[in-house]
Amino acid sequence: MQRSLVVSIHDVAPATRARVERIVTQLAQSGVVRCSLLVVPDYHHLGSSLGDERFTAWLRELEGKGHEIVIHGFYHQRSPRVGQSARQKLLTSVYTADEGEFFDLDYEEALRLLRKAQREFAARDFHPVGFIAPAWLLGAEARRAVVDAGFRYTTTLRAVSDLAAGAEFVSQSLVYSTRSKWRRVLSLGWNRTLFSCLTTNPLLRLGIHPPDIEHQAIWRQIRAVVDAALRDRRAATYRSWLAEHASTRHETSNIL
Ligand SMILES: [Zn+2]
Repeated sequence: MQRSLVVSIHDVAPATRARVERIVTQLAQSGVVRCSLLVVPDYHHLGSSLGDERFTAWLRELEGKGHEIVIHGFYHQRSPRVGQSARQKLLTSVYTADEGEFFDLDYEEALRLLRKAQREFAARDFHPVGFIAPAWLLGAEARRAVVDAGFRYTTTLRAVSDLAAGAEFVSQSLVYSTRSKWRRVLSLGWNRTLFSCLTTNPLLRLGIHPPDIEHQAIWRQIRAVVDAALRDRRAATYRSWLAEHASTRHETSNIL
């Protein structure tokens, strides 16, 4: 089977566009010609991303080059809940800096936001098949809504879920935390170890956030990971990887 590298760029919105452009350009120079772009429909309530025509034109151009548009949350901001447990508080406030928007949404609200996002994208002729929750935190009810809204796949930190086929592919994503110096130091060590553990996995996943490019040591490691990965892997998007994987599975079952 073809070994693959899927690079996903998180938090794509008009507010992060300048950084994302630099990331996309530099990755292309390294040979990552396609990425999965995780677009937030209304990042931090700053306004509809696709309502920004220049942003939309830029997305269309990227899609034309082979990049994939994925829906990533709706506001990428979690409203505080009444009566949440200490564990929930820890997860959503400390771990994700209150960005775990789809962590504990109920089914109805999750479905409403997903359908709203789908309508906004479809109105501009974008038809994403993937939904990825902010910080990969997707609660059980929200996950059910993702399935019912017709998304083909979702991902978590540890796996890619092919919702259409009911299959799960385990591959932990490399991802960096840049919020403080100690997190950056830990991130570098952790991702170095994780990368070496994933050498035999047919799928390598690398999640990039816009601030990553501002931290020299982090960005240097990301470039090194990409260079090393592309020696024997091909850059894919989640969508293209799943399509290829489904056909491989089909061929295998035909042989058997
Ligand atoms: Zn995000």
